Amino acid sequence: MLRLAVLGSPIAHSLSPAMHRYALSSLGLEGSYEALETPLEALKDRLERVRREYRGANLTIPLKEVALPLLDWVAPEAQAIGAVNTVLSVEGRLFGFNTDAPGFLQALRAEGIPLMGPALVLGAGGAGRAVAWALKEAGLEVWVWNRTSTRAEALAEEFGLEAVPLERAKEARLLVNATSVGLKDPTATPLPAEFFPREGAAVDLVYRPLWTRFLREAQARGLMVQTGLPMLAWQGALAFRIWTGLLPDARGMEAAALQALGEG
Ligand code: NDP
Repeated sequence: MLRLAVLGSPIAHSLSPAMHRYALSSLGLEGSYEALETPLEALKDRLERVRREYRGANLTIPLKEVALPLLDWVAPEAQAIGAVNTVLSVEGRLFGFNTDAPGFLQALRAEGIPLMGPALVLGAGGAGRAVAWALKEAGLEVWVWNRTSTRAEALAEEFGLEAVPLERAKEARLLVNATSVGLKDPTATPLPAEFFPREGAAVDLVYRPLWTRFLREAQARGLMVQTGLPMLAWQGALAFRIWTGLLPDARGMEAAALQALGEG
C-alpha cells in the first residue's frame, strides 16, 4: 500500500492530509497519508520508520533544515536552499527534495502573476530562502529584507542577491511575504502600507488567515495578490509526483486545503 505521512510539530492542524487524501482518491489510488507529531528529538527514529514502512513523507516546522544530514541523498537545489520538505524512501534509502521552491513558481504561473522583477522577499528564514532561490533561478533581480538584518545580508551574499531596507519595496514589482508576520494575527503586517509600489503583485506565504493584512492592503493599492494556498497546493502536488510519478490536480488539492482550513 502507498503509505505517506507529514512529520512536524505541532502537526495536528496541518492541511497536508486533506490535500494528499484528495490526491490519492482523485487518482483512484489506495493509500494513506498520516500526520505524525514529530518533535526534533524524535526525527531520527521517525525517519527510520519512514525508511522501513513508508513510500515517503513531507517535513514541516521544525524539521526541514535539520533533516539534511539524516538522509542518504539530498537533491542539489534542496542542498543549496538548506531545507528538505519531501522525503522519498526507495529500497531502504532516503532521498530528500525541496518542492517549496518550484511549488512557489508553479503557483505564480498558474495564478497568472507575472514573473517580473525586481522581486523583494521579506524574510530570510526557511521559506524566504526557498522563494529567493526560486526567483533567482527564474532569472529575476531579487532583493531581500529581514528583521534581523545580518541574516538578510548573509543570504544575499550566499545567493548573489541584494539586501535592502524595507523602503525599497516601493521600487519592487513583486513582493513576497515569507516572514511569519500575520500568522494568526489579522492586524499584523511586515510592510507599512505606504511602502507598497504603484504597480505589480504581492504574494503572502501565510495562509492562516487566508486574507492577511499584507494582502488586503496590497489589494487596496491596486496590486495583484495571491494567498499562501496555491503554493501550499503546488508544493504538495510536486511532492506527490516524486512519490508516485503522477501529478495530481493542484487546484483540487487547493480546494481540499481550503475546506480543511474552514474557509471552503
Ligand atoms: P522561519 O521560522 O524559518 O522564519 C521566520 C521568518 O519570519 C524570519 O525571517 C523572521 O525574522 C521573520 N519574523 C518573525 N517574526 C517577525 C516579526 N515580528 N517581524 C518581522 N519579521 C519576523 O519560518 P519559515 O520561513 O519556515 O516560515 C515563514 C512563514 O511562511 C510561516 O508563516 C509559514 O507558515 C509560511 N510558509 C508557507 C508555505 C506555503 O506553502 N504557503 C511554505 C512554507 C512556509 P528574524 O530572522 O528576524 O527572526
